[in-house]
Amino acid sequence: MIEKCISEIIDKHNQADFYLAIINALSKQLPREPKGKDWLYCPVCGADVLTDKYKFCPDCGQKIDWRCLEND
Ligand SMILES: [Zn+2]
Repeated sequence: MIEKCISEIIDKHNQADFYLAIINALSKQLPREPKGKDWLYCPVCGADVLTDKYKFCPDCGQKIDWRCLEND
């Protein structure tokens, strides 16, 4: 009985991790504006390597939305 409960908990935990990984991956496909002013950085992981206008953060894969800078 206890073993069944434990295995169910582990299953649910693994499923949650699985869904979180999918959600995480999908959310990075939605472009997000970089943060910072003089020094731009990734809004997700804070990597300060976005000065070359990477389409995707080289650290975490977040898609970067540069439209905010095009009208300056
Ligand atoms: Zn990043």
